[in-house]
Amino acid sequence: MRLPNRQSSIVNRQLKRCYWLHKVVDFRWLATLVLVSRLLAQIPETPKPQPAAPILRTGEGFAWASADGTSKGFGADTKETPLGSLAALLWLRLEGDEWAARGVSFKCKGELNGVHCANPKGHGKVDLAMATTEGCHLAFLVWSLESAERWKKDYGEGVSRYRLDQVFKPFLGDRWKPGETLPALGPEWIGQGDLLRTTPLALAKWLADPDQDQLLSLCKRLMSGAFDGWITKGAEWWFIAGAPPTATKPCDPSGASAWVVGSNGERSVALNLPAPRRKAESLARMKEILLLPKK
Ligand SMILES: [Zn+2]
Repeated sequence: MRLPNRQSSIVNRQLKRCYWLHKVVDFRWLATLVLVSRLLAQIPETPKPQPAAPILRTGEGFAWASADGTSKGFGADTKETPLGSLAALLWLRLEGDEWAARGVSFKCKGELNGVHCANPKGHGKVDLAMATTEGCHLAFLVWSLESAERWKKDYGEGVSRYRLDQVFKPFLGDRWKPGETLPALGPEWIGQGDLLRTTPLALAKWLADPDQDQLLSLCKRLMSGAFDGWITKGAEWWFIAGAPPTATKPCDPSGASAWVVGSNGERSVALNLPAPRRKAESLARMKEILLLPKK
């Protein structure tokens, strides 16, 4: 039906009015949104609560780091010391999932081809979790030698060397010369002597790097099934204590640690003790510093 001209123009005007009214309403909404976003932008972001500064004893070095790149060190946090049996972390990073899947085990008698373990009497039969918690150097040496042989067959020397470089480099500094071949893996590669070194701050940052996510979940898995006390119930923390190097003489058979590392998924922590202590004491000290319950 065709409308008379006059009616048609009235309808047109009303339509136009509706259209502009609609636009104005749109603009109001838009203006409101802009205003709200500007106001929100002016509100300063609430800073994340920082953990309280720990009270350290003389010579202790402690650091924490988060995956977002924030970190903080205290005491002797930049003092470089040998990694000791925590070199196990580097091997777990490289081969841990493979070894866990294969269900590796080793019978430690305390000595193998002149290489001494942290416990001179031997750890007995150990699996991956026990070798990690007990700091069984020999188990890691044997498993790493087996892995190195397999890499050479599967990838060749150059790629094998690259794999090793990728994980170990931050702990080798300039003690590691460029090359294309895999080195002969001896006791220094499982934490004896001082080839592998780090500081509490560097170690905490390394652990918190998202590259280490898989390692952290493996550690948590190993610790939750391995040793009562090294995982704090409720607080979701796990810890690993590292025995000091045994280059010159075997350690106290009861087990001693110079390092404790751990994570709760949000923060990674590293504690270096000026003198090795029994592992249980080191763990207690770490919990004290983190204000965690003793049990
Ligand atoms: Zn052992």
